[in-house]
Amino acid sequence: METMKPLVMIVEDEAALVTVLRYNLEKEGYRVCEAMDGEEALTVFAESSPDLVLLDWMLPALSGIEVCRQLRRKPGAREVPIIMLTARGEEADKVRGLNTGADDYITKPFSVPELLARVKAHLRRVQPIQPKGVLEYDTVVMDLGAHRVTRAGRHVHLGPTEFRLLRFLMQNPGSVFSREALLNAVWGPDIYVEPRTVDVHIRRLRKALNGEGETDLIRTVRAAGYALDASVTA
Ligand code: CA
Repeated sequence: METMKPLVMIVEDEAALVTVLRYNLEKEGYRVCEAMDGEEALTVFAESSPDLVLLDWMLPALSGIEVCRQLRRKPGAREVPIIMLTARGEEADKVRGLNTGADDYITKPFSVPELLARVKAHLRRVQPIQPKGVLEYDTVVMDLGAHRVTRAGRHVHLGPTEFRLLRFLMQNPGSVFSREALLNAVWGPDIYVEPRTVDVHIRRLRKALNGEGETDLIRTVRAAGYALDASVTA
């Protein structure tokens, strides 16, 4: 299947930097769209649905932090990687940026190869949702539109959090996620819950998913987190 090249949105008010970024991203084979201020960023995002956002911190109209916060509230924008670009290098700012929902943080002036490497890494992490919104893993089928989950044809009853948790794991099969990463992806960065809450929901998900005599599809990685992995025997 021919897949479309990933679309990267550059949000930056410094025209010279936009030119440099666009040139290098296009050279790497990405498609590019741009916004020059915070408000335009929200409009362009809604119109173009980019796969990744490079977001400057200091912007006219609406700061990068505020753009990030607003994007994270949109259902379609939750999983899109956001890399913040900034002249600020203080640790407190970095933490603030990441707390607002940014996935990464690059301090200006940055090296272009490093930026491209980070873009590539974040895009690889995000798996596209399959056509018709149906996810399949092992004998588990998840119909996202109908909100229906089956395992080997048997209906699986899930609460809303377990549903979102399973969806995220099925979008990234085999990858190990820390409790913090799962909290961020499934609960959202604005919601504060104890990392141990993840364990409770994983337990519920396992109970619902694993029938009598069936393999446990969720692997617990000690001190690291959880992964969807059918190759593990209980
Ligand atoms: Ca700026």
